[in-house]
Amino acid sequence: MRGSSIVIPAGVSNALNALLFPFHRTRMTASGDPADAPGAERVRFAPSPTGMLHIGGLRTALYNYLVARKAGGAFLLRIEDTDRARFVEDAEEDILSALDWCGLDYDEGPGAGGDFGPYRQSERSDRYRPVAERLVEEGRAYYAFDTPEEIEAMRDENRSDANPQPKYGPRTRRKMNNSLTLPEEETQRLLDEGTDHVIRLKVPKDTGVKFTDEVRGSVSFSTNDLDDQVLLKSDGLPTYHLANVVDDHQMKITCVIRGEEWLSSTPKHKLMYDALGWTMPRVAHLPLIMSPHGGKLSKRDAQEGGIPVSLRDYRQQGYEPEAVLNFIALLGWNPGHEQEVFSLDELVEAFSLGRVAQSSAQFDLDKLKWFNEQHLHRLPPEEVAARSREAVQAEGFTPSEDYLTDVAALMQERITFADDLATDGAFFFEAPEEYEEAGVEKRWKDHSAALLRAFADRLEAADAFDAETVENHLRALADEKDVGAGALIHPARLAVSGRSYGPGVFSMMAVLGQERCLRRLRRAAEVLGEGES
Ligand code: GLU
Repeated sequence: MRGSSIVIPAGVSNALNALLFPFHRTRMTASGDPADAPGAERVRFAPSPTGMLHIGGLRTALYNYLVARKAGGAFLLRIEDTDRARFVEDAEEDILSALDWCGLDYDEGPGAGGDFGPYRQSERSDRYRPVAERLVEEGRAYYAFDTPEEIEAMRDENRSDANPQPKYGPRTRRKMNNSLTLPEEETQRLLDEGTDHVIRLKVPKDTGVKFTDEVRGSVSFSTNDLDDQVLLKSDGLPTYHLANVVDDHQMKITCVIRGEEWLSSTPKHKLMYDALGWTMPRVAHLPLIMSPHGGKLSKRDAQEGGIPVSLRDYRQQGYEPEAVLNFIALLGWNPGHEQEVFSLDELVEAFSLGRVAQSSAQFDLDKLKWFNEQHLHRLPPEEVAARSREAVQAEGFTPSEDYLTDVAALMQERITFADDLATDGAFFFEAPEEYEEAGVEKRWKDHSAALLRAFADRLEAADAFDAETVENHLRALADEKDVGAGALIHPARLAVSGRSYGPGVFSMMAVLGQERCLRRLRRAAEVLGEGES
């Protein structure tokens, strides 16, 4: 395999670097750029389009969003698509549509514009090689021509119990095929011939790399645990590490907030920032999200446990975006007080990285459903109606907007999903075909049919049909017949809904309206007749 990239001669490369990085080694401050204003927080969500967006990724996006909004800063979306082998065609679209569905709007990113674009790494690919070459020139990185077999042989040779994973690093690099060991002319010849090569960072020996993590506090790694990190691959594309550091720097990111799985990359990044003379942004690594069955939350949880893992699962299962955001906000963060239900704005208000937990968070499906209920209660009924419309229609019902809104207002505190209106609320759209057996047994008495007929006659004459009027008629009739109100309430409920439970019977009847109620009361009297007991 031949390297496809062009080798830029040193002089040109220097000039290019000066152009691209005129301020390297100094911190950009008094440049007049608004992004440099003190306190201008700039954070980013930097997903790789390697699959459908999952809940952990969305939580990272959310925390970034909250930090940006709270600080009045900028939230960027950057697509890290340099790993062509793992690229998935519709993954980017899935990410964009998930963020849109949740209302996590970004200030800069693909489709949103911004002064630091392009925001897809594949569209920035010319920016990385000059940085890697600058490091080579300054003695902080080197060209390496080893084949995978040669590297494997080196590892095999050095492997021992004490050193199970030998590194390509300070102790071994001198024996390898690279610009540190080859005569300069030989290196140049190989480069000129387009020989396959990578650029590796020259990791210092026996050095502690320390940084402060906003979640974990002080963190330190030893360079002895690191390989001489590949910065530029043989296909000329940057590794995640190089692209990430270059882009965070060029996009003036002030704080990197990402999943814990990236913590071990941070010392490499720190070494790169130091070598380049750039200031590393603050970093915060978020705890893992664990499956209720132990282990990391995985696709298996979705397939076997019915647990929504990708955002697609959440949408398909009928969760509301407000509930999903609230639920994931609390997976790894707590506000320090009792409040659990938060709108996005309230989260912005309450959030701080300082209250993000170090320990992993466990997924709890019941809690997620509870959040869905809480947010459904809080939505305006017309919104619940709109969100249930598709499911209601799928059941073959076509209620008017007003009617569906009235139904939603009555039912929204009793359902888990907006779609439940189509099933739990089906009696609002079609007359019950049967009556709940246990309810009939318990509540339907010998006199029920006669009482319901009289109730229907009385309601027929009513000139209003609000809940209060219905109730007044029912109580007046109960008095007249010398029975308790319950003798009418329970059979009436069975008659109009087919069930012995549900929202208040008077409000329910008011929503159903006079005509439907009269028909249903009379029909139940006929079907259930003079009683089961
Ligand atoms: N592209 C990485 C990911 O897929 C980004 C990690 C980071 O935020 O630095 O998560």
